[in-house]
Order: sequence, then structure tokens, then C-alpha cells
Amino acid sequence: MSESSSAIKERFVSHAPGHWSAVTPAMWSDWRWQQRNRVTTLAGLEDRLRLTSEERAGVLLAGKKLALAVTPHYFNLIEPDNPNCPIRRQVVPRIEEGYDSPHDMADPCGEDSSMPVPGLVHRYPDRVLFLVTDRCASYCRYCTRSRVVSGVGEQELHTDFEETFRYLETHTEIRDVLLSGGDALLLSDARLEAILSRLRSIKHIEFLRIGTRVPIFLPQRITPELCAMLRKYHPLWMSVHVNHPRELTIEVRDALGRLADSGIPLGNQSVLLSGVNDDVDTMRDLVHKLLLCRVRPYYLYQCDLIRGSSHLRTSVAKGIEIIEALRGFTSGYAIPQFVIDAPGGGGKVPVNPNYVVSHDQAKIVIRNFEGRIFEYPEPIATRVTNHHSAELVTA
Ligand SMILES: *Cc1c(COP(=O)(O)O)cnc(C)c1O
Ligand code: SF4
Repeated sequence: MSESSSAIKERFVSHAPGHWSAVTPAMWSDWRWQQRNRVTTLAGLEDRLRLTSEERAGVLLAGKKLALAVTPHYFNLIEPDNPNCPIRRQVVPRIEEGYDSPHDMADPCGEDSSMPVPGLVHRYPDRVLFLVTDRCASYCRYCTRSRVVSGVGEQELHTDFEETFRYLETHTEIRDVLLSGGDALLLSDARLEAILSRLRSIKHIEFLRIGTRVPIFLPQRITPELCAMLRKYHPLWMSVHVNHPRELTIEVRDALGRLADSGIPLGNQSVLLSGVNDDVDTMRDLVHKLLLCRVRPYYLYQCDLIRGSSHLRTSVAKGIEIIEALRGFTSGYAIPQFVIDAPGGGGKVPVNPNYVVSHDQAKIVIRNFEGRIFEYPEPIATRVTNHHSAELVTA
């Protein structure tokens, strides 16, 4: 093996079977076993980790807000003695979840007010978000949909499937349907196929996508049978959700490889989280490993103002700094678009480092990634024929 390919190999490690050393490989690789054996209780955590008092108190709170659940696969990534472990911060509750900062909201992206049918969010002109389940393989403590996800929060998800299909059939402007939840890949193959085939029977729907964290929490779910089913519904794209490079294990890389081999273009959505990935080195490592897994970094989200998440939020300036440290310094394919999902329901708004020094009708002055200044003259023709520019001239 060449030096570079062995270097690539070493960047992916397996932590199996870790705490579950008595389990057979066949059980370990069975996704239903992983689901049944999730860590969901304080005792289950304390058997394997040394918890802090803040975490212990957080677990007791979780039962009324967002359930605790971690698959054995993902649990093995947690450092048992490090309460600041970036994996642990994402899935082990802390007492701070009980604290609502003044800006926190139950529904920070205003989804409930954009639901023409229960379970269907129609915010943008040509695409919809279809919430097909309220369950996930593990629960992220910062989940933007924690009001409905996991079954213990303040609301229940009552998706009306028949009403949704009727809405989609009559709304011919919709060409893109995003399945999310919860996590659509927790449905059985048959249930998911029933939804996909029904959507494919609607002529004006061109583009299907699934937003999922299952390949990361539960890579065993990405079976050859699931992949064979999914590939019948192309063009089907998938957005996965990875926040830290350690989440990209050998099992996860192989699961993503099976999806990519099935012709599914893969994107990644990360959430910028304090103490998890809010530094340039971690983020650079993450985006590089994603490319090795054939996943294109798609969005980096500023953390939504979800209730009880202020301890996981970091500044917008930090997100801009991270993008600025990537752009020009590494592959363009590795750089996600940093966005804020506008509080109250404005949708995703791109937030970028400013590369425009000045711009008038004659020229734009720009700076490059090294801070050097360049000028690009506007085409002369547009300066006189452009109505807007003409106005500027006479003004
Ligand atoms: C994120 C989102 C989409 C998809 O947005 P893209 O920018 O096209 O990925 C669609 N609907 C809602 C409500 C969303 O939040
Ligand atoms: S996987 Fe997604 S929907 Fe599920 S808890 Fe995590 S962020 Fe929320």
C-alpha cells in the first residue's frame, strides 16, 4: 500500500465492540440489536462513564424534554473520563438544558406556523420538508426539533400522511421533497419504500432527498437491501449530519461508501457547537475526512435558539472565522455554506466572510484569501445601458 493510502486508512478507526465485549459480531452488526440495546437510563450511563453531577442532574431532566438514547456504536466513541469529550457533549444531557436563556424558543425556525398539513413544512416556493417520524437512533441535545422528537417533549408529531400526499398532488409548484423527522431511515424498508414510491407517482416531484443521522449513529442500518431499495427512486440525494471528525469511524465510512456506491449524492450538515467543533483545526479535519467518505460539506449551521441549548451555542463570528480559514486554503469542495436559520421562520440565510471591499458601477474591489486586493472592472456596456447604473450617473 502506498504511503498516502495507508495514511488515509489510519484516519478512520473502529471502536467496536468497546463496552459490549460479550456481544457476537453478528449481533453487533444487526441494526435492530443496536436499537434495542441503546443506552437510555442513568444506570446505563453510570455503568460505563464517570458522570459529573451536572450530567447526572441533566439526565433526570431529560425524561420531560428530550429523551436520552445513544446506540452502542456511538456510545463507544465517548471518552469515559472526559466530561468535555466532544462526542459526549452532543448526546449526554447536562443540567444546563434546564436553563432557558431569554432568547430561547420551543420552535426556533417557526416550522409550526408554516405547516399547511400536520407534519409538512412548506416554507420555500418549490420545496417542502416532510416529517415522517418523531424517532431517531440517538438524540442530539441541541436538536432544533426537540419539541416533537423522541416522544417525551412538549408536543407530539401527528403527521397526516394521506392529507400530505393530497397536498403534494395539488401543489404542482413543489418539485423537491425532503424527508426528515426524526429520522426517516429508522422506518422499515417497506414503510420507507411505500412513502418514496407514493412520492415518485407524483409527476411534478423531481427531486427526493432524505435528511438523516442514521449512517453516523447506526451505520449497521445501511444494509445492502436498504441501498437496493433506495436506488430505485433516483434522483435521490441524502444529507447526513456529522459534527466531529471522530464520528467518521470505519463503520460509518463504509456505510457512506455503500450509499455513494448506490448512486446517492451525499451532503453533510454540521451544527456549530461550543466545545465540539468550534475551532478551525477540528473543522478542517472534519471536512477533509468527509471528502474521503465521498460526502460534500453542504451546510454549517449556526446553532438554533432551541430551549436549553445556550451552553452549546457559540458566536456567529466564530463560524465566519472558520469559513475564512478554509476558503482558499483548502479544496473548494470541502467548504460548507455557513447559514443562520432565521429565528421565527425566515429560512436559511447565508452568512459569509466579506471579500468585497467596495463595489460601484465601474468596478468591484475584492480581497483574496491572503488579504491581497484586486479590482474587476464592470463591463463598459452595462455601465451605460443598465437602467440602475444610468440612474446613478444622473443622480
Ligand atoms: C432546510 C429546509 C429545506 C431545504 O432547504 P435547502 O436550502 O434547499 O437545502 C426545505 N424546507 C425547510 C422548511 C427547511 O428548513
Ligand atoms: S438526529 Fe436530527 S432530528 Fe434526531 S435528535 Fe439529532 S438533530 Fe434532532
